[in-house]
Amino acid sequence: MSDPRNVLVTGGNRGIGLAIAKSFVEGGDNVVVTSRSGEAPDGLTAVAGDVTSTESVDAAFTKAEEIFGGPVQVLVANAGITKDGLLMRMSDDDFADVIDTNLAGAFRCVRRASTGMIRARGGRIILISSVVGLYGGPGQANYAASKAGLVGLARSVTRELGGRGITANVVAPGFIETDMTAALPEDTQKTYKAGIPAGRFARADEVAAVVRFLASDDAAYVTGAVIPVDGGLGMGH
Ligand code: NDP
Repeated sequence: MSDPRNVLVTGGNRGIGLAIAKSFVEGGDNVVVTSRSGEAPDGLTAVAGDVTSTESVDAAFTKAEEIFGGPVQVLVANAGITKDGLLMRMSDDDFADVIDTNLAGAFRCVRRASTGMIRARGGRIILISSVVGLYGGPGQANYAASKAGLVGLARSVTRELGGRGITANVVAPGFIETDMTAALPEDTQKTYKAGIPAGRFARADEVAAVVRFLASDDAAYVTGAVIPVDGGLGMGH
């Protein structure tokens, strides 16, 4: 087993981010999650952080580093939002807000994390994208663009920092069992599932398992990759 690492998960207070954070805790790592309120879910340590603000990201990292007593070694940039709408009716604000949170937010966190990782000559960066980033989605021009942008971000980081022991990868989940998908009408769920070769939605812990692998010693030579966790939904994209 490798030594415990200092892991920061943005948006780790609920949903997929929470499953990822819990999984790292179970693996014996030191974990801090960010939430906008700074409130911590049971058994986890949280710091307040809004990824749309450079100052807030900096403050969250500084606080996390104090808690860890050292730099962030694994960054999971998971915080994300949707503001879906058909193209012709999508406002500039709805486009910009989603890019600012999902793409620029990840950039702000990666930039802040890179300082400590470069100094330590090692680190793991994992960006949570979506099958929609490569597959596209009607009504999701803003979201898909933001999630596709994460691929260019990870690959540029890989080219820039790959020689310093830092890996940067993208995880692209498909449909995940969340409150949102549970609330879909049964017929809609059936239609979606029919398009997924695995025939079901994923559990959040199935995403967490892949994130954990990318952060592990075994994945030292995996970088600049896009790993789908989508039951085959987006294959070929
Ligand atoms: P949730 O809506 O359950 O949680 C979103 C998280 O992001 C929350 O912790 C939220 O924090 C945080 N967040 C949102 N905006 C900001 C911000 N400006 N600054 C800091 N944190 C913020 O999302 P999911 O768990 O469903 O999704 C997590 C990630 O996985 C997202 O990036 C999403 O795009 C991606 N994904 C989700 C899929 C799904 O089926 N659910 C499928 C594919 C990808 P707060 O509590 O403060 O609001």
